[in-house]
Amino acid sequence: MNTTPLILLVEDEPKIARLLEDYLHNAGYRTHHLDDGLAVLPWVQAQTPAQTPDLILLDIMLPGRDGLTLCRELREHSPAPILMLTARMEEIDRLLGLELGADDYICKPFSPREVVARVKAHLRRIERLKTPLPDTSDSGLKLDLNGYRASLDGQALDLTPVEFRLLATLSAQPGRVFSRDQLLDRLYDDHRVVTDRTVDSHIKNLRRKLQSLAPQREFIHSVYGVGYRFEEG
Ligand code: CA
Repeated sequence: MNTTPLILLVEDEPKIARLLEDYLHNAGYRTHHLDDGLAVLPWVQAQTPAQTPDLILLDIMLPGRDGLTLCRELREHSPAPILMLTARMEEIDRLLGLELGADDYICKPFSPREVVARVKAHLRRIERLKTPLPDTSDSGLKLDLNGYRASLDGQALDLTPVEFRLLATLSAQPGRVFSRDQLLDRLYDDHRVVTDRTVDSHIKNLRRKLQSLAPQREFIHSVYGVGYRFEEG
């Protein structure tokens, strides 16, 4: 099995694509380049688990299918971090509001070095998540850090990657209070563009999903004025 990380690059401007591929290759990554939005899902679905991309760089303005739609669709099929390439800084706030499930946003024109640095940071974060967690099985909660799968009392929890990371972070240290800032640090490598409100909305969704499987139990507690902690009861 090839363990060199594979980056899927979806970009229709040949010059930008070539530049990014050069830098990514120099940084030691493999790349697969697609320039048409319609080709993305079929390609991702055709990969065997060992060949799925480790990270996806996704342009927004694409022929065939736009990056926003693709991001939502990819989230259903791939736990890989998605870094969106946007043309305008002002667009980022609007994109965040759409809750696409993207992990990061990079504004054009970008320096390829910056892109590689962000790619590295996201891949590192994924590696960190693969290190074993303390056993949380007392609560019936199980997290598979490689597959991004979670279950509660044997029932699958359908979480977005961000919700998964949130739950993994909180449940790794039961009883510890995390501030919103600390959670953002663990969820996003660059949270300059993410607001505290983002954490609250992910927590809300996470609670709703946990509650749908275990209505009588509460796992995530608000600590007034501070943040959140994980504890059953
Ligand atoms: Ca484009």
